[in-house]
Amino acid sequence: MPSNIDPIERRRTFAIIAHPDAGKTTLTEKLLLFGGAIQMAGAVKARGDQRRARSDWMKVERERGISVTASVMTYDYDGHTFNLLDTPGHEDFSEDTYRTLTAVDSAVMVIDAAKGIEEQTRKLFEVCRMRNVPITTFINKMDRESRDPFDLLDQIEQELQLHVTPATWPIGSGRGFLGCYDLFHDRLVLMAKGSKGAMPELGETCSGLDDPKLDALLPADAVATLREQVEMARALCPEFDLEMYREGHLTPVFFGSAVNNFGVRELLDGIGALAPSPRPQPTAGRTVDPTESDVSAFVFKIQANMDPKHRDRIAFVRLASGHFKRGMKLKHVRSGKLMNMHNPVLFLAQDRELAEEAWAGDIVGIPNHGNLRIGDALTEGEDLRFTGIPSFAPELLQRVRPDDPMRAKHLGRALEQLAEEGAARVFKPVLDANWIVGVVGGLQFEVLADRIRTEYGIPVHFEPAPYYTARWVESDDPIALKSFQDGLRSAMADDHDGAPVFLARNAWHLDTVTKENPTLRFLKTKEQT
Ligand code: GDP
Repeated sequence: MPSNIDPIERRRTFAIIAHPDAGKTTLTEKLLLFGGAIQMAGAVKARGDQRRARSDWMKVERERGISVTASVMTYDYDGHTFNLLDTPGHEDFSEDTYRTLTAVDSAVMVIDAAKGIEEQTRKLFEVCRMRNVPITTFINKMDRESRDPFDLLDQIEQELQLHVTPATWPIGSGRGFLGCYDLFHDRLVLMAKGSKGAMPELGETCSGLDDPKLDALLPADAVATLREQVEMARALCPEFDLEMYREGHLTPVFFGSAVNNFGVRELLDGIGALAPSPRPQPTAGRTVDPTESDVSAFVFKIQANMDPKHRDRIAFVRLASGHFKRGMKLKHVRSGKLMNMHNPVLFLAQDRELAEEAWAGDIVGIPNHGNLRIGDALTEGEDLRFTGIPSFAPELLQRVRPDDPMRAKHLGRALEQLAEEGAARVFKPVLDANWIVGVVGGLQFEVLADRIRTEYGIPVHFEPAPYYTARWVESDDPIALKSFQDGLRSAMADDHDGAPVFLARNAWHLDTVTKENPTLRFLKTKEQT
């Protein structure tokens, strides 16, 4: 593959979606290993340990064995630039995952071969479907007792309403799993025996199912089954159709075992060959094409305190168009102010470096002091508003108190920062001195308590609050809004921006108040229009 193909055309920005434990972390690591971004598997975890040593709020991650933070890994392989966006697997952090999916052009769906499609796979798949994100499937753990490959294909087809075309076919399974036959190239590339961690050498190649080398290299029954199953699969499954895949109606399916390196190279090559380059991005007025010369970008994630010594935050920005260069000035559309891109960061597998330049599809980190928020646009002047970045209604509300009441003011500031980052919604009740925090998943409370303690030095505890849900209140009639606020002070709060929020005690309360005030709008999220 030539390495000088158009810089946009060569980019593949993708995420891996999976139910926890299906093997996302292992596969990520192996994609980096095969992509030449790391030398030894284990490096991703090592990097994780370093980070943890620096900021121990990730203790929650460690204790529960879940991955909370989303990061980006950029690497070049075979003429392509891959931007792999990591997503938290645990459903309590799905907010982060959903937003990350707005920044990718395709996704790899990892399925455990013994378990098939699981709940979280299904949910994340639905998000991809809503956005027509093309899906490449990797059926992992074929080295374990697994379900029949035809059953697995059938389940994807039936449950996800997605056409399936096997890209590789497993040879044996469980202890007898020997590798995968590459159906797209009609060949089998065996791996030389090597250590699990290091990059395996390529071994023998067999071309075509009739190659006598197959019979010489593999047990007779495995070859017979392979020939029979491939014939059946070719008869039963539709041929691969690039357009159908790109439109999100068909998924190529790769089998493998990430931990044993099986099927990973084929998957990586498949993403390079098939996955789309940066796609046009929707905005309120028009669609932005990645080939436009002016730079435009949107913020899809904020991460604060990556380095606890600095209060800086990193805004993760997806470039939608143009050729970004370090030092350029971009307009921050929400404030109308120009921002100088002094220190944009590029995230490599094990490191970060200054991003001297970047193209549509790339993710750069912009350090800032809190002026960048999720959904914000950066442009060379045009007032663009990117659409489709989801905002979630807080479903769980709790009161937060500092262990030391003298620290209440500091806590307020910490909460405001966390709210701006998008880690939680915070509400200041009009008649109560304690803040109310709203989240989507319960584990977020634990992470918040840990972060407030370690990053801001304020030990806090969460306790139940007598609220059922929160609604932002809006009206075109300021007098009606004011009289509503004055009349219901005990149920009113301000969010971190000072916008009025109604805190309902129960479903009935919400229902009555909504009905009694037809001129007001009760919104589940502030961004909702
Ligand atoms: P995640 O929660 O989706 O990130 O999953 P991990 O990558 O952490 O994997 C979960 C567990 O499955 C770990 O113990 C892995 O070692 C194991 N695992 C991952 N891939 C494979 C595989 O191909 N075969 C087997 N047998 N185990 C695997």
